[in-house]
Amino acid sequence: QEDPFFWKDHNVQVIIRIRPLNNSEMSLQGYNKCIRQDSCQSITWTGHPESRFTFDLVADENVSQENLFKVAGLPMVDNCMGGYNSCMFAYGQTGSGKTHTMLGDIEGGTRRHSVNCGMTPRVFESLFSRIQKEKESRREEKLRFTCKCSFLEIYNEQILDLLDPSIVNLQIREDAKRGVYVENLKEVEVTSARDVIQQLVQGAANRKVAATNMNLASSRSHSVFTCVIESKWESQGVTHHRFARLNLVDLAGSERQKSSGAEGERLKEATNINKSLSTLGLVIMNLVSVSNGKSLHVPYRDSKLTFLLQDSLGGNSKTSIIANISPSNCCSLETLSTLKFAQRAKFI
Ligand code: ADP
Ligand code: MG
Repeated sequence: QEDPFFWKDHNVQVIIRIRPLNNSEMSLQGYNKCIRQDSCQSITWTGHPESRFTFDLVADENVSQENLFKVAGLPMVDNCMGGYNSCMFAYGQTGSGKTHTMLGDIEGGTRRHSVNCGMTPRVFESLFSRIQKEKESRREEKLRFTCKCSFLEIYNEQILDLLDPSIVNLQIREDAKRGVYVENLKEVEVTSARDVIQQLVQGAANRKVAATNMNLASSRSHSVFTCVIESKWESQGVTHHRFARLNLVDLAGSERQKSSGAEGERLKEATNINKSLSTLGLVIMNLVSVSNGKSLHVPYRDSKLTFLLQDSLGGNSKTSIIANISPSNCCSLETLSTLKFAQRAKFI
């Protein structure tokens, strides 16, 4: 299967997604926008001074969930079927469309043709249909697949299990056999997209409970949905194994966390959010440099998020960043800061 155009050169790909103006933006600023799209790969921030940015893809508000999936999600599915790890991140300020992009409307269970259904359900629909086809075409090799998923949240550099909130104080461990993993994290076997959606809905409900208990908003935590796909087959009397890990990450809002005036827990929280997002930026930047032939220290261990995803970033893994922005003048500075983050991930 051929990779789409934008994965020809690098393992890190960056997409900008512009959401439509919302009612409150229109009532404040009318149709005034802070960006102008120049082509399907280039966008200009129209503040002062004007700045132009180039990405693998700039998806405007008319790009449907379906088309975004075809461009960004299908290659992830191909990659997993090939036995490689993948990570997809949704980056952007709160309200920019991260959750719409990653989950979208999943309320209707597996209403597979709901136009608002987002990346994750579409990825798993496609993955399970590919698995079915492969199993049929490789019957003589007794090809089998096992998919296990987990769902966690990183808040204030602490890990919460969204599939079983009764388990607390989860720790990241590392060993030669398993690589990097979260000790005691609940894993659930899934055999269909419907199963995956059920876990997503469960996790989202637990996230809400945690949010009210701890007085935090989902905008200040990262959620990581992981599926490990194991395949086994036989050829010439030998059993072969393959593992692929797929990570779908809805990041904390990228808006600057004010640390001025904050004290105690609030200050720690603000510092941690800024730290994990900036570490992610650094890690991705350094990966791009490494794939360009430079050798650099990649600071995976500087945040829980990057430590956890260490085995899925770099090497043969594919990383896709969808940076979500609002086009409104109301969000001009945050939009510029997202474009700059995304650009740093793209070029050094
Ligand atoms: P975030 O997760 O980044 O805080 P959301 O995904 O919750 O933002 O989006 C905020 C609001 O904007 C939601 O009501 C969502 O449905 C809407 N929205 C976001 N992106 C789009 C889009 N591309 N098309 C239509 N509505 C969108
Ligand atoms: Mg969200």
